[in-house]
Amino acid sequence: MELIAERLGGFYPSADIAAGGPDFVVLSVAGRIAVDIAEGSPRLLPQQLPAAPTPLQQVALGYLSGVGRGHAWQVSEQWLEQTPLELELLTLRELVGRLDASDFALVSRASQLLQWQREHRFCGSCGRPTSSSRSDHALRCEPCDLSFYAKISPCIITLVERGDYCLLGRQGSWPAGLFSTLAGFIEPGESAEQALRREVMEESGIDTDSVRYFASQAWPFPSQLMLGYFARYAGGDIVVDGVELEAAQWFHYRELPRIPPPTSISGQLIRAFVAARTTAHESA
Ligand SMILES: [Zn+2]
Repeated sequence: MELIAERLGGFYPSADIAAGGPDFVVLSVAGRIAVDIAEGSPRLLPQQLPAAPTPLQQVALGYLSGVGRGHAWQVSEQWLEQTPLELELLTLRELVGRLDASDFALVSRASQLLQWQREHRFCGSCGRPTSSSRSDHALRCEPCDLSFYAKISPCIITLVERGDYCLLGRQGSWPAGLFSTLAGFIEPGESAEQALRREVMEESGIDTDSVRYFASQAWPFPSQLMLGYFARYAGGDIVVDGVELEAAQWFHYRELPRIPPPTSISGQLIRAFVAARTTAHESA
């Protein structure tokens, strides 16, 4: 399955699902994903199902590199109980960091496409039923000439640097002591850089400049695309709004609080900052 991370899959129309069985299936039951945990850590299903269910709902995932045609199926819990497979149902959140990156990308896509298909069965303009596009991941209303795409919500996530210190914040609902990089949704009409400066200012009162791109990560809770950046402190004192964040603080790179795991882009941003400061001091 490693190849999937390289290229998640070329388009394959959902309209062609009836023409032949899939080479690989992601099974979903009421928003949870069926995984095999017989060997301890969760794995996706064997590619050949012992008995094909009649899915309650299905959507094409695409041609998966090295695998073939992939489908996502919504099935009933009763069907799952009747199969000889030893399967457990886990939520996407429970699978973060437990599935390998390529499998997690696949279940993210499956879960988001199933949800999108369920929520766009009718045209939002005229109310007629939609149908699957033959040319891309879209649901079409032909009379209105409208295409409805699966929603992806771009967000910025940023580590603001000030010499050996970085700006981290925490929300009241998080586990005690956990701090992370600041993040927020990009609003219509904004560039990622504008969103970054606005979000950091709104959440912490800090002005930023020298924005540098780091990496991105799909974060399917429910549909974020996290765009990771480093930014530099350009002025201001910390003032938290008490709504989005309950606290924000400058932390020295050698005296960090509890931070997110390296499977999340926030965890990667913080670790990259620590590595860069460590190298800078060693070579000074
Ligand atoms: Zn319409």
